[in-house]
Amino acid sequence: MSLLLPPSVGVYVHVPWCRSKCDYCAFVSQPLCDRITKTPRPIVDEVMYHSVALLERRLEFLGRPAVTTVYIGGGTPTALGPRRLDQFLGAIRGLMGEGVEWSVEANPRSLAPETIAVCRKHGVTRISLGVQSFQPRILQSLGRESASNLARVLENLKRAVERTRSAGRPLGWSLDLMTGVLDMSLLEAVDDAERAVALAPDHISLYDLSVEAGTALARRLGPRGARRFADRATEVSAAARRILMAGGYHRYEISAYCRPGGECLHNRGYWRMQPFVGAGPSAVSSLSRRDGSIVRFSDPPGVEEFLAMRDPWGTREHVSVSRAAFERVMLGLRTDEGTTLSALPPAVVDGWLARGFADIQDEDRVVMTEAGWEQLDPCLRELSSAWDEPP
Ligand code: SF4
Repeated sequence: MSLLLPPSVGVYVHVPWCRSKCDYCAFVSQPLCDRITKTPRPIVDEVMYHSVALLERRLEFLGRPAVTTVYIGGGTPTALGPRRLDQFLGAIRGLMGEGVEWSVEANPRSLAPETIAVCRKHGVTRISLGVQSFQPRILQSLGRESASNLARVLENLKRAVERTRSAGRPLGWSLDLMTGVLDMSLLEAVDDAERAVALAPDHISLYDLSVEAGTALARRLGPRGARRFADRATEVSAAARRILMAGGYHRYEISAYCRPGGECLHNRGYWRMQPFVGAGPSAVSSLSRRDGSIVRFSDPPGVEEFLAMRDPWGTREHVSVSRAAFERVMLGLRTDEGTTLSALPPAVVDGWLARGFADIQDEDRVVMTEAGWEQLDPCLRELSSAWDEPP
């Protein structure tokens, strides 16, 4: 395949189960309950075993590169329960060295103190908690389970974090918040953002709701979808963003905010288009070729198809040199690192500078301003039309 053997990689493992399916969710995830109890050897164990085995084989094929970051996402990894999570994290731990940033996604409904203890036992350094909203009404409108235990979970998590502060490798945590949700009021958005800041996580991800085709929410909203709420969504999202930034959070990517030292290195790696190896239903691996193009490998999204995989790398997509260059620029512009001036058509940069959408930093980096990030989609369309070879 003429792949460049990378000296280091990020690792992603997809756990395709949750306690229940949220109405807006377009991720590969299934409700867990009957999968655990109704089969002789639960398919859950088969998939986790197969994911770890594939990961090991892929790392072996690449000449055992150093693993720099690990991200266990989904789905909801903590929904596996402490016993299964213990086995699973133990197996993954065997594939990496020490000093690695290791994130695990969690849901308040399944983040018991024993689960946090299992994460710590294996050296997890970040817990990413999907709160989405503190408002029961909003969670209900999203078809998402309300966590009546949320206050207790947050208390336990903060206590566990405090206990690790004096240790060499403190546990960090991130909170996911969703804004611009349908008819969410300004007051509700402000309240969510203020509560998030008051909890002082190291990192906050703030996403706008996206109504994806094929989800229960898209069916419920019908053909006009979320468009009828769009104006209000823009206003409430902007209010939430202002509160995070006034609370001392640095916006280092269009949806990601951190306090000093709290950024997610794994996601930085994605945005810099560094190589990574994924495993699990729907997981993607991305590797460079000698000619500068990229190959992306995807595992099948269906659990049965994943288990029946013959090819150790799944389906592949070749990303041409030109397309890879365009994607690198596009991803850079979503972050506070921006992109190099020489990578952009001069007329496009001039237009952005004139409208206050971008700044030049350190003489040769183009970084979008807050106003530019608000207009990122039209800016990227301009860039795409001006790109030398159509991306
Ligand atoms: S918890 Fe997350 S992954 Fe699971 S169904 Fe809800 S949105 Fe999807």
